[in-house]
Amino acid sequence: MTPGLPRAEVVVDLDAVRHNVALLAGRATGAAVMTVVKADGYGHGAAPVARAALEAGASWLGVASLAEALALRAAGITAPVLSWLDLPGTDFSAGVGQGVDLSVSSEGELGRIAEAALRAGKRARVHLKIDTGLSRNGCPAYAWPELVKAASEETAVEVVAVWSHLACADEPGHPSIDDQARRFDTAYEIAREAGLEPLRHIANSAATLTRPDLHFDLVRPGIATYGLNPVPQPENLRPAMTFRSSVALTKRIEAGESVSYGHTWTAPRDTTLALVPVGYADGVPRTLSGRMSVWLGGSRRAVAGRVCMDQIVVDCGDDEPAVGAEVILFGPGTQGEPTAREWADTLGTIDYEIVTGMYRPRIERRYLQETP
Ligand SMILES: *Cc1c(COP(=O)(O)O)cnc(C)c1O
Repeated sequence: MTPGLPRAEVVVDLDAVRHNVALLAGRATGAAVMTVVKADGYGHGAAPVARAALEAGASWLGVASLAEALALRAAGITAPVLSWLDLPGTDFSAGVGQGVDLSVSSEGELGRIAEAALRAGKRARVHLKIDTGLSRNGCPAYAWPELVKAASEETAVEVVAVWSHLACADEPGHPSIDDQARRFDTAYEIAREAGLEPLRHIANSAATLTRPDLHFDLVRPGIATYGLNPVPQPENLRPAMTFRSSVALTKRIEAGESVSYGHTWTAPRDTTLALVPVGYADGVPRTLSGRMSVWLGGSRRAVAGRVCMDQIVVDCGDDEPAVGAEVILFGPGTQGEPTAREWADTLGTIDYEIVTGMYRPRIERRYLQETP
């Protein structure tokens, strides 16, 4: 292949990330912004996104595991980082040593982290997580007073925050949101009565956009950072990810010839086909076979037949795209190209899953406007 022609390439527009973070910071007046960069920045690249977000007004970072937090530290990022889901056996002392904030959902976890703090010779910074109704991570209400008491008496830890996570914030007006907010208030009051003065945080992207009353000290937007809108009303967000490839080969076929495995598509007329070297091993779901189009030569063109492991075939009619021409699989949608949201809607999933699925060894990543 000619050097420089993208085969399977994700382009991440970091100015879009900056725009989105600035928008979120503007909404969250009075609260700091923790940009969530778990799952390698939702498939966009954790460290470059983190740097862009910190430039644009975020002051915290959030990740799902200590390994993700330590990768940010190894990349030279010194901002506060919270890691929220680690198993027993994790080397918490490395986290404490590197100043990573750790979430605590149980007394067992508190004990393991306190022990690690003693080994590290440094107090651990912890965020006590209350389960207010998501019934996933977090301490159940019945165990909360004991956890708070233990944390307030444990000199090896500093309680930085009390926090929780919402189940239905992407459905504004859902009654569970107010219900979770009430339980969160109760949990916070119990912490105060135990003599703690923690920060509070509960808002994901959807609540950052729709529930200013739940911003408290810190908001934790993830998906909106990447320009994908989790709420029904329009928001001025810019999708940061474009997935592109190039035409590898073109050919004419006659009416009646069939295309790709299983011959599920037959040309209704003589037509030109363009071969594009991306497939399901590169994040093009095979279940999009017969249901997807790409942006090629200034218009949308249908993908003919099945998505293969390494290739798709585009029906170009009587147009003949140049070998090497750009093919956009999805992007922000500004030119008319498909979007991650469109793929998700077709597949019956959410755009979160589409973009996080783009973290693959065969996909090259390129950054626009990267922080030097
Ligand atoms: C992923 C996650 C977020 C961010 O959620 P978005 O819907 O992407 O904004 C916030 N908090 C926690 C605990 C999470 O797991």
